[in-house]
Order: sequence, then C-alpha cells, then structure tokens
Amino acid sequence: MKTFVTGGAGFIGSHLVDYLIQQHHEVHVIDDLSSGKRSYLHPQATFHHLDIRSDQTGDLIREEKPNILFHLAAQADVTRSIEDPKFDADVNINGTIQLLKACNDAKVQKFIFSSTSAVYGNLQKTFITESDPATPFSYYGISKLSAESYIQLFHQLYQLPFIILRYGNVYGPRQTAKGEGGVIAVFMEKIRNEQPLMIHGDGEQSRDFVYVDDVVQANIAAMTSEQNGMVQISTGKRTSINQLVASLSSLHNKPLDTVHKAGRKGDIKHSCLANQKAYDLLNWKPNTEIAQGIQYTYSYYQPITENTDN
Ligand code: NAD
Repeated sequence: MKTFVTGGAGFIGSHLVDYLIQQHHEVHVIDDLSSGKRSYLHPQATFHHLDIRSDQTGDLIREEKPNILFHLAAQADVTRSIEDPKFDADVNINGTIQLLKACNDAKVQKFIFSSTSAVYGNLQKTFITESDPATPFSYYGISKLSAESYIQLFHQLYQLPFIILRYGNVYGPRQTAKGEGGVIAVFMEKIRNEQPLMIHGDGEQSRDFVYVDDVVQANIAAMTSEQNGMVQISTGKRTSINQLVASLSSLHNKPLDTVHKAGRKGDIKHSCLANQKAYDLLNWKPNTEIAQGIQYTYSYYQPITENTDN
C-alpha cells in the first residue's frame, strides 16, 4: 500500500516507518525536522521536508493519493503549549485541517491520528475509559482534542474513514526527554549523564506506560481495520515511579542516586487507561511487559551499545 507518515522522523513515527518498510509498503514521510531527526529516517522512505501546515503538503497528498495517512506530526511539548498556545494550535489544529482537506480530496482510505490521554486533563479517576469526559488541562490537550473533533466531523460530512488512537505514556528507544517525553526518557538521560533521578513526592504515583512497538502495532491494526472510531492505546496496568527506579537499578548493576522533591501541584496520583475497546475495535492488545520494554530501552541508551542513531 502507499502510505504517508507525518512526523515520520520523530520518536514514534520513525518506528512506524521502519515497520511499514519491513512489511514492503511504499512509505512517504512528511516532516519539518523541528523535533525529529534525519538520522531516524529510514533510507528507503521517500522524505518530503515539509511543514504539515503548508500548501505544498496539501498539493503533495492530492498528487500522490496515498491509500493510508498516519498523522503523527505535532507540537507535542506540553510546556511549550502553555508558553505559546497560538503556535501549538496552529500546528496541531490548522496542520490537521490542512491534511484532512487534502486526504478528503485524494480519497484516502484511512486517516489514522495519534492522539493522547492529555485530552482527559486532570480527571480524578484511576481507570479511564473512552466514555469519560475529556477536560484538557493544557493547550496541548485542547489542540489534540480539537483535532479529533475535526477528524470526526470530516467523517460525518464527507465519510473520510478514520481511527483516532489515544496513547498512554509511550516509551522506548529514540524518545527524547522533551515533548510528551515523560519520565522514562528523562530517567534514561539522567542515567546516561550520571545524574541523580528526580522523584516528585513519595514516588508511589503511577502511570500507564506503553511500549513503542505496541503503539506501532496499534497503527497497523488501525490501517487494516474496517472500523471508524476512537480508542485508547494502553496497557491497562499501572507502574509506579518507585517500580521504575527499582527496575532501572537492577539493570544498571549499581545503585542509582535519587533526589526527592515535593510533589508537583496538580499532578494526578494514579493514571491508567482501559484497552478493552482497542481489542474490540482493532483486535489489538499490547505484547510488551514493562520489565521487557524497560530493558530494551535501557540497552539502547547505554553508551556501550552500538547505536547508529542516538
Ligand atoms: P516527536 O516530537 O518525536 O515527533 C513529532 C514529529 O513531528 C517530529 O519528527 C517533528 O519534527 C514533526 N513535526 C512537528 N511539527 C511539524 C510540522 N509543523 N510539520 C511537519 N512535521 C512536524 O513526538 P512523538 O512522541 O513521536 O509523538 C508522535 C505523536 O504521538 C504526536 O502526535 C503526539 O502528540 C502523540 N503522542 C505521543 C505520546 C508520547 O508519549 N510520546 C503520547 C501520546 C500521544
């Protein structure tokens, strides 16, 4: 199939591109390299160094007429969204609209969108399902939720087929401590620089960490699905910060220094996303246990391993 991946030079997008190429699909990447890296780009992918908001992007999609478009390009840095909500909205909302219009004109068979659990904001619930209210607490959460609404309305008005994937905390090789980064990438960077790991509060707060390969498989399942809809992509399990530190310490073979800081205001104590709907709609479930995923990620970040791209 002819596939387009926006954000294909980024953390998740580059893993998706690698898999699509391994499966012999034709892959085009649209990326402005604002946070992605050229070294992550698969050499067999056709690279278009473009901004998703540009008219050239729209023209390219109309000309190439892909079967499937995976939309991962985003301003994915929560802090930056707070500092510059206009830029965040421009990339995440206007960029998505530009793609939707072009995909509709090009009769793309499936528009697959990477969304986020940030749309729920500080929902005080320990187990979130898709029917819970989305009440974002960052401009990033607002812009991703708005993009979802545009996708749904394009479907209602023009029958553009779509799947929205709301990810939990994604982790794995190539992730940076910026963006939706999250604690695992931050810890990997600290370990690499031989700096202490910072723990806010008692470290018992927990999150739902989903490994990047499982997220890739969710995108693949969305590509082949006949369904339209929105699903959460998660493990349905909680891992605490203390558990993460313990796993990393055992891999590191020597105790890791930790620094305790006061708990962050507004931080949710536990957050976990149901994944039953993803199974029902896409026949997808995660395959990587946290211990395994942490090990793969740790090996990638260690200077002794021979990584060509980190
Ligand atoms: P990333 O920053 O590594 O990747 C984003 C890619 O988009 C980068 O390669 C960047 O250069 C590109 N990009 C940004 N703005 C662009 C623009 N205007 N035009 C063209 N390209 C542009 O982020 P990631 O973690 O791989 O996230 C991928 C997607 O998954 C994003 O949509 C993000 O919102 C979503 N997501 C990520 C996580 C996570 O934990 N990493 C969780 C939930 C959702």
